[in-house]
Amino acid sequence: MLVVQKYGGTSVRDVQRIQNVAKRAIEYKGRGMDVIVVVSAMSGETDRLLNLAHEIAKFPDEREVDVLISTGEQVTSALLAITLREMGHKAVSLLADQIRIISDSSYGTARIASIEDAKIRSELKEGSIIVVPGFQGVDDRGNITTLGRGGSDTTAVALAAALRADLCEIYTDVDGVYTTDPNICERARRLDKISYEEMLEMASLGAKVLQIRSVELAQKYNVPILVKSSLVEGKGTLVCKEDMIMMEKVVISGITYNKNETKITINKVPDKPGVASKIFSALSAANIVVDMIVQNVSHENYNDITFTVVKADGKKAFKITEEIGTEIGAKVAMDEDMAKVSIVGLGMRSHSGVASRMFTLLANEGINIELISTSEIKISCVIESKYGELAVRALHKGFDLDAGDIAEES
Ligand code: ADP
Ligand code: ASP
Ligand code: MG
Repeated sequence: MLVVQKYGGTSVRDVQRIQNVAKRAIEYKGRGMDVIVVVSAMSGETDRLLNLAHEIAKFPDEREVDVLISTGEQVTSALLAITLREMGHKAVSLLADQIRIISDSSYGTARIASIEDAKIRSELKEGSIIVVPGFQGVDDRGNITTLGRGGSDTTAVALAAALRADLCEIYTDVDGVYTTDPNICERARRLDKISYEEMLEMASLGAKVLQIRSVELAQKYNVPILVKSSLVEGKGTLVCKEDMIMMEKVVISGITYNKNETKITINKVPDKPGVASKIFSALSAANIVVDMIVQNVSHENYNDITFTVVKADGKKAFKITEEIGTEIGAKVAMDEDMAKVSIVGLGMRSHSGVASRMFTLLANEGINIELISTSEIKISCVIESKYGELAVRALHKGFDLDAGDIAEES
């Protein structure tokens, strides 16, 4: 049996925690399993390194930033391998270049293209525990790349897929995937199981417990993920195929919250072909990902277009849109204090009235909905960010997710 274990920043925050990681890896090995351990940088380290680069340059060279921030994971992987050896076990750390975790060349947001398994397989045969720094790749010209924030999750799942591991365990600071962020809602409940599809929506909508890309890969290659706490014992949450989920059919599995939304409104856009294309082509050319878009009904040959982007892109998006606004004679406004709350659940496919229930719960709290978007298994509302946490708690309670309540079929 082959297991990949991934430990996040808080789980390798100091020498004592690294020793705990080593003990668990040795315990698994003792039970006859082959073990690959993927580690993150110590908590706060990636931010610290990024801040150093930004102290020197407003726009530091992207290639060099990846060389810099990939070091956090190298430190913890070497320390873990040293610890394992000190505890009397065979262990070897292998960097992305040594394994050949090949990615594209998009520094900071690279995607893994392929992983060679020969080196790892031969080290496993020797009886070693393999330690791999998460988050890093190497492109086909030998440049170091990184996989985006939270990317160690993706390294772990990609390795599990490439080596056909039986299980990928993600150890973090919470003991599983919850119905909503347990740090926002104290009545959040741990889920025993969640489908890839729901987890993908939750990750995309702001639940940072797993990086989006890691869930995509797990779904594609059918890698079961078990999310657990590295600090307390527990069953954790299994992320798996929908048909493996036998639990009671709940309508909503989770609520997510993302407070980093900026809303841009273009008022009095001439109602003629090509205007929307002009605006969104310009944004896409600047690599800005637009989230929701709403265009209202045309009035006297003018309409309004509203869209949202992540806060980090807000000012840039506003500037681009304003330039086009001036050209076409439209007024552009920006609101940086928006949040998106979403409900996610496979049960939505077979239940009606879910949207109206959501809107009513928000209205009962006096929260105004500015934008709405839906997919088969999610509904998102953009609201003022000051109401974000209130909305999460109200929806959590209103959809019977609070700990102690029994999930109901409505
Ligand atoms: P790590 O450093 O181990 O990768 P992260 O900070 O990336 O850990 O992810 C764990 C965090 O995800 C938790 O501390 C929690 O605040 C947050 N989180 C957000 N939504 C959820 C959720 N639905 N279930 C569990 N954790 C969540
Ligand atoms: N250290 C990286 C980050 O902070 C990657 C990770 O922890 O997954 O985003
Ligand atoms: Mg993470």
